[in-house]
Amino acid sequence: MKITLIYPKVGKGKAAPLSLLSLASQVDAEIIDERLGPVQTDANLIGITANTGEQLKNAVQIAKNLRKRECKIIWGGNHATILPEQVLRSGLADFVIRGEGEIPLKELLAGNIVNGVCYLKDSKFIENGFGQCGPLKIFDYDNRIGIYDYSYLEFSRGCPFSCSHCLNSVHFKKYRTHDPVEYSAFIRRTAQKHKIKRFWFVDDNFFATPKALELLGLLKDADLEFEIPGVHIECIKDYGVELSDLREAGVKTMYIGVESGSERILRMLNKNLKLDDLFSVNRKLTGFNVVYNFMAGFPGETDEDFTATINVIKRLLSENPEASVSPLYAYTPYPGTALYDRSIKAGFIPPDSLEGWANFNWSNIRLPWVSAKRKKQIEDMYKWALFLGKKPSHVIRNGFARAGLVLMMPVLRPIAWRKCQ
Ligand code: SF4
Repeated sequence: MKITLIYPKVGKGKAAPLSLLSLASQVDAEIIDERLGPVQTDANLIGITANTGEQLKNAVQIAKNLRKRECKIIWGGNHATILPEQVLRSGLADFVIRGEGEIPLKELLAGNIVNGVCYLKDSKFIENGFGQCGPLKIFDYDNRIGIYDYSYLEFSRGCPFSCSHCLNSVHFKKYRTHDPVEYSAFIRRTAQKHKIKRFWFVDDNFFATPKALELLGLLKDADLEFEIPGVHIECIKDYGVELSDLREAGVKTMYIGVESGSERILRMLNKNLKLDDLFSVNRKLTGFNVVYNFMAGFPGETDEDFTATINVIKRLLSENPEASVSPLYAYTPYPGTALYDRSIKAGFIPPDSLEGWANFNWSNIRLPWVSAKRKKQIEDMYKWALFLGKKPSHVIRNGFARAGLVLMMPVLRPIAWRKCQ
């Protein structure tokens, strides 16, 4: 049986599709990444992954084309995990795998229906919970490593926190890490073999385990550089000498999820983050590129909450000139999260079809609690927040664009502050 796993087109970047690469390391499958070229396959078993929104739109189109010939289609990924029945009833899927796919896919190929595998039987939806989470296995993707725009690593999977807006705990049912000794050896091997210097960890909450420090400690003499996009203040608030260790180990950039400057909203998000800790850590994070992530548009968010977010951004940037802010993300309600129920109570009407969810993005959805004025503010902050800090250049990787941006900063910064008030 020939198996193809498809990653539908999404966004402009080319992050390695680690979920499919992990699956392909366990079953004999080819991967087609639509960002790299058109989807052409004669496989008789197709796996498609998709997040809600743009990627789902492309996944629907791919599945419609595949439906013109004889083949079985299995859907996985975030969207199929949150709404498996709707995906199956669209007629574009024979099976849905919810949660992590490695074990369910292997079993399904062996003819076994196990946890995580959903399907329709005589039009009845057969639900089988979530895929079993086995131990993390190291996988090489040697033949594809030069294709993607970064060298990606996954040291841990899942997150021990349970923020009410986040899909992590819906998708990943168990938090696990690799063994630091084995994983550091893997990183060294990969760096030497492919002459790679800089790595990007995809972990959602990298420092949630002390093993992260152990891993980086083992790589101190490897002369590598690391970007860590999933950092939670609670996990690093007590770091002292550890911060010097991180600098020595080559950690260059940390992306820190704050979400809101309002203590009230942070409590609602179950974020487990205190603003005093945030300010204190921010002052200690010298020598790193620090990028803070904020969101807006939460149900129940008042003008005071929104202003509090802007004020916290101001303070972070003034107390740490090396800090910057990523585009302000708009809250979007996802089924399965705790905040979704609150959004429904607040008047959010979810799409009633797969196509509706495929068009689900900030410009198309209506959140009744977000006024037209606030929507415009959020959109402006999405475009301009990048230019608020003194040192936004590390967010832009392209050398020419970065140099141009540095030159333009004296002009852009005041405009950004006007737009973001
Ligand atoms: S800490 Fe981050 S990854 Fe973990 S639940 Fe909260 S938002 Fe999600």
